[in-house]
Amino acid sequence: MSTRSGEAAKARSRAWIGLGGNIGDVEAAMRAAVAHLGGHERIDVEAVSALYSTPPWGVTDQPGFLNACTRLITDLRPEALLDVCLAAEAAQDRVREQKWGPRTIDLDILAFEAGSYSSARLQVPHPRLAERAFALAPLADLDPGLLVGGRTVSQWLAECDTSGIEQLKSAVDWADLD
Ligand code: ATP
Ligand code: CA
Ligand code: CA
Repeated sequence: MSTRSGEAAKARSRAWIGLGGNIGDVEAAMRAAVAHLGGHERIDVEAVSALYSTPPWGVTDQPGFLNACTRLITDLRPEALLDVCLAAEAAQDRVREQKWGPRTIDLDILAFEAGSYSSARLQVPHPRLAERAFALAPLADLDPGLLVGGRTVSQWLAECDTSGIEQLKSAVDWADLD
């Protein structure tokens, strides 16, 4: 079937974006990043998780992080969504100096409802999601039953070390969703 315009209808998919940072006013940067995503004409922000304080992961000699997660619905393909995420980071002066090092804001595509995706510049689900309580805890706020790699988010989270992870604010207390 063709649509009125003659183009195939674009499939919409949910996507989950993990947000984190540990330089500057991270809460404000995360609010700005969610607004950046929601301001895109092809992205609707459906929900935002609580805000968490988490210990640094990978490079432990750096300040603690704030982390959260947002659920979107979009007809953008995964690489186009990555480009929007990278633009939202750039708008908050993200600089890449050290792998897993300090950052104003990081936006990772954690999962895509439409399925898995792999290219030279993007892997979805995020390849390190299952071992990261700092990403799983906010994701579990939104969708504990989401299946990723054969297990639910809450099952993965139950296997992770959650020490030092604290919920700081509920979603309504930090995110500025209309
Ligand atoms: P990590 O990916 O382990 O969380 P990081 O977020 O600190 O580390 P970045 O420097 O932000 O790493 O990203 C490097 C590149 O990773 C991005 O430019 C992008 O091309 C690639 N990448 C691969 N998979 C993903 C994904 N699911 N979400 C975001 N970026 C991804
Ligand atoms: Ca990351
Ligand atoms: Ca990243």
